[in-house]
Amino acid sequence: MLVAHLQQQRVEASRDLVRGADYRCPGCGVGVVLKKGEIKIAHFAHRVADGDCTFSQGETVGHMEAKRLFGEALRRRGLKAEYEYIIGDQRADVAGWAPDGKLFAVEVQHTSLPEAELARRIAGYVEKGVPQLWVPFIRKEYAGQQVAERTRLPSAISRYSIRPFERYLATAYGGQMWFYDEVAKKLLMGRFGDYWLVHDGGDFGAYYTYSSSRWRKLELSRFYCLDDLFFSLDNSRLGIDLGGCVEIEQIMAVGRAVQAFEGAGWSLADLQRRDEGLFAALREQRDLFAEALAAGDEGQIEIHGQATCRGWQQAARRLLGIEKARIAAAREALLRDERAWPDGADMAIARVRELWPGATVTSVREKNRD
Ligand SMILES: [Zn+2]
Repeated sequence: MLVAHLQQQRVEASRDLVRGADYRCPGCGVGVVLKKGEIKIAHFAHRVADGDCTFSQGETVGHMEAKRLFGEALRRRGLKAEYEYIIGDQRADVAGWAPDGKLFAVEVQHTSLPEAELARRIAGYVEKGVPQLWVPFIRKEYAGQQVAERTRLPSAISRYSIRPFERYLATAYGGQMWFYDEVAKKLLMGRFGDYWLVHDGGDFGAYYTYSSSRWRKLELSRFYCLDDLFFSLDNSRLGIDLGGCVEIEQIMAVGRAVQAFEGAGWSLADLQRRDEGLFAALREQRDLFAEALAAGDEGQIEIHGQATCRGWQQAARRLLGIEKARIAAAREALLRDERAWPDGADMAIARVRELWPGATVTSVREKNRD
């Protein structure tokens, strides 16, 4: 923990404090010791780890460093910030105050948190009217792994086993959210996409795809320093947006366009099957956007970001048009009592109906498996 009480006063751990003073845990009131080594940041610790005191639970050096990063970034901007700050029945990792005095909370999530607990904490802040920003740590196995490449270039983890609390946050944040990398000590924006699995329909030779509930594709932006970003209140669904530069605005806009496309149940493979030309154009445009991001040219980032958004919107309209035309053709064929030629999805539906007679099958694609 970064804060202790000394003669009823809040004190922050720092190298300037003296060891051996009567520091007390703000939670349970027992004596705590000041630790200030060469490598680890200064902090307080219970003499004996106390399983009951919430101030000693789940606390790691990495977590304390992340709290410091946010607190110091706010203070460098001349804003008031406090660590481990009590707000009603909750304790914010970092509390900040906007220039107009509005209180907000920053939570950096190091360890996996049960979904119900996360939901309770989010609801708690919402009830209190406190805007909140949640920043989970990127999993250890991916942290700092591509430090050199990720300084400028975006990257992607094609098969990421999403943790339940990340799924919850990703939903709350519309698919994209900030992560903290404890090795680089920087932030990166992550965007979750569907990971499509293919099921072989068997006898008919048909197949269908379905999105995995366990796996996700995770696209990661380059690293950002907190000093390059702005905290803006009342924008995101959870009350705080972190952004303010052209790059992030465009990444978020493209993310929303992709979300709308994938949210409709389509994948790039669908587009490729149905409109090879548009698929190729969209892929090329995506590469141009990635190149612009890599080059860091704001003008190019804006042009290619907007073009990429338009590409995704066009792809969505195209598939919607095809779907409408297909339904209309099938309806017409039915009216004329002709046989409509089924495609892969129809075959899969037929297969399911054969296996489970009487079942109502609307779409095979939307069914989640595993
Ligand atoms: Zn305690």
